Amino acid sequence: MTKLKCIKNSQQLVDEGFANPSDLTTLNEISKKYTLTITRQIANNIDKSDPNDPIALQFIPSQEERLATPEELVDPIGDQKESPIKGIVHRYKDRCLLMPVTVCSAYCRFCFRKERVGQNERGLSRSELESAFNYIESKKELWEVILTGGDPLFIRPKLLNEILDRLESINHVEILRIHTRMPFVEALKIDEDMLLALTRKKPLYIILHANHAKEFSQEAIEAIEKLRRCGATLLSQSVLLKNINNNVDVLEELFRTFVRHRIKPYYLHHADMTKGTSHFRTTIEEGQALMRALRGRISGFAIPHYVLDIPGGFGKVPINHCYLQSENTHYLVEDIKGTQHAYPPTSV
Ligand SMILES: *Cc1c(COP(=O)(O)O)cnc(C)c1O
Ligand code: SF4
Repeated sequence: MTKLKCIKNSQQLVDEGFANPSDLTTLNEISKKYTLTITRQIANNIDKSDPNDPIALQFIPSQEERLATPEELVDPIGDQKESPIKGIVHRYKDRCLLMPVTVCSAYCRFCFRKERVGQNERGLSRSELESAFNYIESKKELWEVILTGGDPLFIRPKLLNEILDRLESINHVEILRIHTRMPFVEALKIDEDMLLALTRKKPLYIILHANHAKEFSQEAIEAIEKLRRCGATLLSQSVLLKNINNNVDVLEELFRTFVRHRIKPYYLHHADMTKGTSHFRTTIEEGQALMRALRGRISGFAIPHYVLDIPGGFGKVPINHCYLQSENTHYLVEDIKGTQHAYPPTSV
C-alpha cells in the first residue's frame, strides 16, 4: 500500500519525473497559491514521454497558471451572490447547491472554484450543516438538492449517508444530485460503505466529470459500474479545454466513451473566467464549431449541451450555434452540411 501515496508538492513532481528541476521555483510559487494534489491513480495514468498527455495537462501546474487576465474573476459564476447561508447557493427556484466540503482528492488546474476549493476554507461544521438543512426544509419550492463542492464523494461514507438520509427525509426534496470526479481521480474511495450511502430511495442523479477518454482507466470503469449498480442515474459533465479536448475526434471519443459506459452526456462547459486559467480557454466560436461538427456524426443523445455560466451569477445557458433564422416571410433552417432550407412561416 505504500505505493498509493499522493503527490503533494513540486519536489515530488520533479523527483518522480513529472516536471523538470528547472521549473521547481515556479511550481512552488503556484502550489503555494493553489493546492497541488495528484493521486496515485492519476499519476499512473500519465504518460511521461508525451509532452501533451491530456491527464498531465489537467493536473500538473504550468507556468501560465500565474497569469491572470483582466476579465478573470475570483468568483467567476457568482456563487457568493446567491448564497443565503454558508454552504448553500440558491439561484434557481426549484434547486440549490449544497457544499458540505471544499476539498477534492486531486486538484484540476482549470477548476472554476479554484479560489475556494482546496484552499484553507473548512467544510461545514455540524451546526452549519444543520442550518443548511433547516434552510432547505424551510424552502418548500426546493425540489432538488445538488451536492457539489469540492467533491462530495470525499466526505466519509458515514457522514455522507447521514446527509443523504436527512435530505431524503425532507418531503418536498424529491430529487438528489451529486457532482463528482471521484471515479477518475481516486476510485478506491468508492468502496462498499460509499455504495451503501449512495443506495437511495429517492432518485439519485450522479454527474460524472471527465474531459478526455483517457481518464477511463480500468479502476475508473469499475467504479462507474458500481455506481450504476447502486441504482443511480449517471450523467456527464466536461469542460472544453484548450490542447486537451478542443478537437472533434477527441470530443467524439469522449462522448462515445461516456455512452459506452451508460453515462448520458449532459453538459460541456465553456471554461469559466477563473483566475489563472486563460491557457485552458478556447473561444466560444471554436466551441460552437466543434459542437456543430458533432451533430450528425454521433447519436443525438451522445451530444451534451454546450453551456456558458454567465459571469456574475446569472446562470447557465446553452450557447450552441443556432440552426434557425427568422426571415420576413419564412424561416431559414440550416442542415448539418451547412445548406440552408426555407421553412414555412408559422400560421396564427
Ligand atoms: C449549475 C448550477 C445548478 C444546476 O444547474 P442545472 O442546469 O440544473 O444542471 C444549480 N444551481 C447553481 C447555483 C448552479 O451553478
Ligand atoms: S474535481 Fe471539480 S471541484 Fe475539484 S478541483 Fe476538479 S473541477 Fe475543481
